[in-house]
Amino acid sequence: MHVFTTVSELQGYLQAARFNNQSVGLVATMGALHRGHISLIEAALSENEVVVCSIFVNPTQFNNPEDLVKYPRSEQEDLALLRKAGCQVAFVPLVSEMYPTPSILQMDFGPIAQVMEGKSRPGHFNGVGVVVSKLLHMIMPDRAYFGQKDLQQVAIVEQLIRDLSFSAQLVVCPTLREESGLAMSSRNKRLSDEELKLAALIYQKLAEAKNQLLSGISIPQVIASIEAYFNQIPEFRLDYFEIVDRETLQRVEGLAEGQSVALCIAIYLGDVRLIDNLVID
Ligand code: AMP
Repeated sequence: MHVFTTVSELQGYLQAARFNNQSVGLVATMGALHRGHISLIEAALSENEVVVCSIFVNPTQFNNPEDLVKYPRSEQEDLALLRKAGCQVAFVPLVSEMYPTPSILQMDFGPIAQVMEGKSRPGHFNGVGVVVSKLLHMIMPDRAYFGQKDLQQVAIVEQLIRDLSFSAQLVVCPTLREESGLAMSSRNKRLSDEELKLAALIYQKLAEAKNQLLSGISIPQVIASIEAYFNQIPEFRLDYFEIVDRETLQRVEGLAEGQSVALCIAIYLGDVRLIDNLVID
């Protein structure tokens, strides 16, 4: 596997690949890789001749400086996992390579960025939009792979690709879960064994809420029962639980024929913020 830290080395390699008519897939990550990330690499490998995995903890998408400092980093293990998966290129730039000068551009994604993660983490999607744009420009992939685990991020990237006419095709991959149902996440590495057990409740309650909705229980009732449940467990602090239209990400009043609805949660377990979602098609 080639490991590049500079854009010019990376582009030199990709130019040769493109000259040989090889298609390129991009998996953008912040490292601390787990099987969820590797499932994106595998999807990319199945559709492209060259797969680039970027590992970059993007400072501009962290609204909470402590979260940035505590974000898990494990570069050597990450590179070993990527080698084992058969990834051809790892792009591991320093902050100074990605931001030779501080980024001034502000990206406003409108209503889809004003709810949930956008509301709780001001500036987050501006940071995501800028860094994903940079990666798409630098790498010019044929396909870019993103996980449904970050459902709102998928909507943002979809709009970014459309509005800025990037040629990459967005491929959305399903959420990989632990046996307990807990969505795999780099942040899970910060949880104690005890907290990991509690964290499994997040998926269990989401699945229960989905079944309640399907059995005809009203949205306000489902929301109230989730809020009441997590409020009585002192280790949890619910940030939001929302039931939204999958495309617009705006709240819905009820289930409608032909509409995809997403149940989205963000919750603190101790000082670790976890997100998850389930979709009803
Ligand atoms: P991150 O390193 O958290 O920025 O994630 C990099 C990519 O991996 C994003 O597109 C995520 O949505 C995706 N991802 C993270 N966790 C999972 C998971 N459990 N299953 C599938 N994809 C995931």
